[in-house]
Amino acid sequence: MKSKNTFSFGTRSEILRNASQTHYVLLIIGGGITGAGISLDASLRGLKTMLVEMQDFAAGTSSRSTKLVHGGLRYLEQMELGLVKEVGREREIVHTNAAHIVIPEKMILPIIEGGSLGKITTSVALTIYDYLAGVKKEEHRRMLSKEETLEKVPLIDEKLLKGGALYYEYKTDDSRLTIEVLKKAHEYGAQAVNYTKVDSFIYNENRQVVGVEVTDMINGQKIKIYADTIVNATGPWVDDLRLFDNSLKGKRIHHTKGVHIVINKKRFPLNHALYFDTGDNRMIFAIPRTDIVYIGTTDTDYKGNFESPDITKKDVQYLLDWVNRLMPSLNLIESDVTSAWAGLRPLIHEDGKAPSELSRKDEIFLSESGLISIAGGKLTGYRTMAKKVLKIVTRRITTATGREFPKCQTRKMRLSGGEFPFYPETAKLIEYADQKYDEAKQTGITPEHFKRLFYRYGMNIDLITEKAFEFYNISKNSENAWLKAEIWYAVDYEMITSIEDFFIRRTGMFFFNVDEIIEKLDETAHCVQEFVSLNDTQINIQKENMKNQISHLSDFKQIS
Ligand SMILES: Cc1cc2nc3c(=O)[nH]c(=O)nc-3n(C[C@H](O)[C@H](O)[C@H](O)COP(=O)(O)OP(=O)(O)OC[C@H]3O[C@@H](n4cnc5c(N)ncnc54)[C@H](O)[C@@H]3O)c2cc1C
Repeated sequence: MKSKNTFSFGTRSEILRNASQTHYVLLIIGGGITGAGISLDASLRGLKTMLVEMQDFAAGTSSRSTKLVHGGLRYLEQMELGLVKEVGREREIVHTNAAHIVIPEKMILPIIEGGSLGKITTSVALTIYDYLAGVKKEEHRRMLSKEETLEKVPLIDEKLLKGGALYYEYKTDDSRLTIEVLKKAHEYGAQAVNYTKVDSFIYNENRQVVGVEVTDMINGQKIKIYADTIVNATGPWVDDLRLFDNSLKGKRIHHTKGVHIVINKKRFPLNHALYFDTGDNRMIFAIPRTDIVYIGTTDTDYKGNFESPDITKKDVQYLLDWVNRLMPSLNLIESDVTSAWAGLRPLIHEDGKAPSELSRKDEIFLSESGLISIAGGKLTGYRTMAKKVLKIVTRRITTATGREFPKCQTRKMRLSGGEFPFYPETAKLIEYADQKYDEAKQTGITPEHFKRLFYRYGMNIDLITEKAFEFYNISKNSENAWLKAEIWYAVDYEMITSIEDFFIRRTGMFFFNVDEIIEKLDETAHCVQEFVSLNDTQINIQKENMKNQISHLSDFKQIS
């Protein structure tokens, strides 16, 4: 099927062909949230921008986080007031710009016997947090009695509990947030390709970096791409690229690993998100989402493969132990874990500090070759990180050419799917979703299924609905028509190349609904084969790969 949209699998090769014949103002390496944010900011200021990602978009840390747009309450403890203020205030902006995927979530913070948080310290800390993060009045913290806390989370051990607090965070889907940022950047002229790896840099006679050599990981082709400025936004890989550039001096990245595990709600019937302290001075989230609860995270030093960090039995047991300690009646065991993921934090190394003590602040490294590298930071702070990078980029261009640029435009820029024709308050969103459902229900879709899609695609649901009608009119099979329409959208508007891209990063089903993947694998493979034009051997390899990944989901490594 020929694609009309240009952020699609159908136009991927063409984008790369054009890239080899174009001179860009800005080339970004890394298609996680940091690179995506830079691409959006740059395109809105009119810079000719290209982004290359060696895996799928968001396949690095940006699909492996706790999936919260949050103010980092924990950083208050470390007295990182500036960071709390910055990311805290960003929460509301990110929510307004992408209200379909950044949803307010009430969090319960239980105060427990022997824990590091007392009633008074919690109350004071949350009040400071509300002030620093500029929290809306209706979302200010509320202290809870022991009885009120138990009413909300009856699973907590009554003997341990002293009281609680209720405050707000926002939950998101990190990889969808990344793709929505990229799609909006694309609307404003930025180009981006996945599965395109930077192998080396190209320099001029003054040893200034002027381009990159890349490999198209799908067909092995090598091309050169040239740009005035190159930004290294490769998260955990930042130092690898600095090494290629011969500029790995001074501060380095300290990689720490964070593991999350997923438990079915039938085994862990939690209805309120929890943020609780462990006995080792850390905090853990337990977050309900559809039919599951996910728990995380660990924070340990990591040396090993960056693409798919190992999850060990020790990581899993650590999380289970703290949940079981707070809620002993659960008695969760390793075999209750249905899915899991591990992500790497690209933090800035500080001598003598333990992983959980390292700052989450972002940092920019400027190399003598002109390469700009950015690491650290938070998903939540992607917009302000981009702003800092663009300040350097635009200043350089203005100095060299006198060209002036507009100020940052991202604060009020709704992301793709977030362009609701109203201020996106929760009540209005619910009403709007109902209205959209009314327009779609003749295809036989259930309200629950439609709601899931509405909160995945926001305003872009209209395109999917139109396509679902088209398929439904032919097959009269509602389930099939909607799955096919969703895959069509993912190929034609979100550049998926495989079954894995769809199940892991465009829908999150791999983390949150493995059973549904098993049920829909054949049908999905059929649609991906048709829309991506794959032969039988290619699609069978993809299917086997997906099955393999599912069967290893809860195969945790014995090593410590
Ligand atoms: C366990 C955990 C929990 C977290 N929870 C939260 C949270 O709840 N909220 C929050 O705000 N933040 C959270 N964070 C932080 C947040 O996830 C990260 O700061 C953010 O995702 C980093 O994004 P990035 O784009 O810098 O890196 P990445 O997402 O890793 O992107 C870098 C990309 O560069 C690509 N790349 C590398 N080398 C090359 C090359 N040679 N050529 C082309 N491409 C290349 C990689 O494939 C990768 O996709 C969490 C982090 C972790 C680890």
